[in-house]
Amino acid sequence: MVKLEIHPMLCKSCGYCVKFCPKSLLEIGTLRSPRGFLLPVMKDSASCIGCMTCAVACPEAAISITVGGEENG
Ligand code: SF4
Ligand code: SF4
Repeated sequence: MVKLEIHPMLCKSCGYCVKFCPKSLLEIGTLRSPRGFLLPVMKDSASCIGCMTCAVACPEAAISITVGGEENG
């Protein structure tokens, strides 16, 4: 079980996570962060393989991924 969290105070809506997810699971959504940026959303969390590509690609370190209860990023 993979849990992905995007921290709204860090995300700047650059779209790198959307671009680099090998399974195209992320998209820029319609909800704005407190800082005014549109936040990415997970389209299909059940298909996430926990590869952490999105977390590594994020220049703001805004993505945390928890695999099996252990936080990795
Ligand atoms: S961990 Fe991998 S598969 Fe899951 S959303 Fe991020 S890039 Fe996509
Ligand atoms: S890569 Fe990081 S800063 Fe850019 S849209 Fe994704 S979560 Fe936001």
